[in-house]
Amino acid sequence: MSILIKDATIITQNNSRDQLQADIFIDGNIISKIGKNLNDKSDETIDAGGKIAIPGLVNTHAHVAMTLFRSYADDLPLNQWLEQKIWPAEAKQTSKDVEISSKLAFCEMIRGGTTSFVEMCIHDTKPIFKAANEIGMRGIIAQAALDFGDHSKSKDVMNKIKPTADYAVGNINASIAAHAPNTCSEELLIKTKELADQKHLLYQIHVSETRQEVFDILKTKGKYPVEYLDSIGIADKNSIFIHCGWLTKHEISLLGNNSVTVSSCPVSNLKLATGGIAQLTELDKSGALVTLGTDSAASNNSLSMFESMKFAGLLQRHHYWKSDVITAQKIFDFATINGAKALGINGGSIEAGKLADIVLLEPGSNLRPRNDLLAHLVYSGGPQNVSDVIIDGKIVLRNRKMQTIDEEKLYSEVESMVSLKE
Ligand SMILES: [Zn+2]
Repeated sequence: MSILIKDATIITQNNSRDQLQADIFIDGNIISKIGKNLNDKSDETIDAGGKIAIPGLVNTHAHVAMTLFRSYADDLPLNQWLEQKIWPAEAKQTSKDVEISSKLAFCEMIRGGTTSFVEMCIHDTKPIFKAANEIGMRGIIAQAALDFGDHSKSKDVMNKIKPTADYAVGNINASIAAHAPNTCSEELLIKTKELADQKHLLYQIHVSETRQEVFDILKTKGKYPVEYLDSIGIADKNSIFIHCGWLTKHEISLLGNNSVTVSSCPVSNLKLATGGIAQLTELDKSGALVTLGTDSAASNNSLSMFESMKFAGLLQRHHYWKSDVITAQKIFDFATINGAKALGINGGSIEAGKLADIVLLEPGSNLRPRNDLLAHLVYSGGPQNVSDVIIDGKIVLRNRKMQTIDEEKLYSEVESMVSLKE
């Protein structure tokens, strides 16, 4: 299959960050040419006159299986929300719930310009692989290991999560995850990382999301969380450390020296009132690979990467009392090329030879006038601008209509499940 996109304003994200007015020719799953007045014969032609083409956004932290919990237990203290509402509700989820929940998440992601995602789930992940592959997403999925610090359970937990390592299908790869340093025994942390390394899979873990976690690890291990994880061999370039809201300067330099990926989820952090702010500017300077995620619809409550970009930028400015502490370009890099690099994808930019993950935006009223398109994307763009989405050379959203799923049918299933739960 080939697609010719005509006359788009292209935010390339190439090395010189060029913005071009040009055509894009996609051959199979690869961008084969970018230029003016291309007239290569194609199976599909998209008139993108007046539209903006951006690389697909990469969401590096989600829990798509939790989408049915959107607004399910809002306005509660964090521990009460998690322990009394979310975990018991999750425990009741069937594999059908997980599949429907994931499909709902993927529709929202695609409609929000996200083409790749990173998932951590407490259930068996097979229904998520199936849903992602059917809808045509790109991403990685892990089942989170969790033994609440009781190492006698670690063997059983490992047996439970191991199958995920072999579920890869289509453009969805497997990943290995441990829930967090204060919810996993040291034995489980080490075993999960060994499995990830042995299978050459990316590793995910929540780190320093709350101050309580930092206190717990300091008390039990005598080290700050990142120092502790580094001491047991987990802080490396194949690991994604999620949140990192309460870091010391020493932890920031450790993450940088070890080229760890950081997934910051600013909207979720604010909504859960975790207090800490990931110091993205310093992390980026240190050499850590800074990326952005939404976290789940239970804690965000949207899966919009546009919102995550905006909040990431606002928080840096607010935190440092400095309105020029970070540029819109840098934040857009976090959500595109850095995300792609974290996942090991040959993407994140619109260039010949790169994977064809492209999003077309209609400027509407909120992306005008065209003073600074990067600032528009980060501070005033939103899912309402997304008209067409191509993932791996396949059109998954065309003129605002999903091509790979019957959304009306999905939504009626979603509503019937939600009412069942109440
Ligand atoms: Zn999370």
